[in-house]
Amino acid sequence: MDQVALVVVRAVESGATTTKGIIGVTGLSRLKVERALGALEKQKLLFRESQGSWALGFPVAPPVRQCGSCTACCKVLEVTDLGKPVNTVCNHILSGGGCDIYDRRPRQCRSFSCGWLQGHLDDDWFPATAGMVAHFGLDTLNVQVDIDAPDRWREEPYFSKLCELSLKGLRVSEGRPYATLVIVGDDRYLLLGRTIVPDPTLFGTAFVPITHDTFHYWKAKSLENLRRLNDRVMEIQRIQQEFGYCAIPEDDEPTPPYRPALLENSKQLRAARD
Ligand code: SF4
Ligand code: SF4
Repeated sequence: MDQVALVVVRAVESGATTTKGIIGVTGLSRLKVERALGALEKQKLLFRESQGSWALGFPVAPPVRQCGSCTACCKVLEVTDLGKPVNTVCNHILSGGGCDIYDRRPRQCRSFSCGWLQGHLDDDWFPATAGMVAHFGLDTLNVQVDIDAPDRWREEPYFSKLCELSLKGLRVSEGRPYATLVIVGDDRYLLLGRTIVPDPTLFGTAFVPITHDTFHYWKAKSLENLRRLNDRVMEIQRIQQEFGYCAIPEDDEPTPPYRPALLENSKQLRAARD
């Protein structure tokens, strides 16, 4: 999937469910957005609900558990076709669990399966008691937190597990890479191991490790900015391999060539320390 399509998917995931809304939050041209929407629809990764809004429809693995008494996703997730906002209990939940329109529930409900149901998480993560619904998207692990327990994800055992999952998602060698995103009401946090990135942009985040589970990061303001940030990260890593050290710059608008500025910066920092 190309970068533009990924930005469009992230926009839909973050609540922009109309073409106009996607253009508004991404700043991409109508032509680019419509092309990406068409391609995603063809691949069955996005679909139009009956009311015309866009919804995600990734293929999910068959569940290995049963929902039982849980109805957490029917509260914390948005259902565009019903006009149900996030963190609002759906009118169709039956007392004791279940759905009163089960046979004709929207496609978004039919295609949803959380990470606990699929067996990716242990019983601490049973959504009804954890107060969080974790689910895999196309390139993200989304953790939608119940607004009635907004800090639950920062508590143990949840935070350590989220760090572990985040590090796994960052390691390209361990299969399909993914970003770990925690959503609490209008707030979004990207996890890079134990490093929490508030309000990540739709264009992505460039990062470089500081320790085995913490990172320095730069939030990209455009796809072009992300490309330059990532190019500089590669140069930082090359210098670290060659010299064992590279000062990490703070600025988020790098311009090539990166190497001379990075080497000069590192030399000055070394001299100041010695
Ligand atoms: S949150 Fe998961 S376990 Fe709970 S109802 Fe939804 S899919 Fe089922
Ligand atoms: S329509 Fe049914 S399955 Fe969908 S959110 Fe409402 S109660 Fe849950």
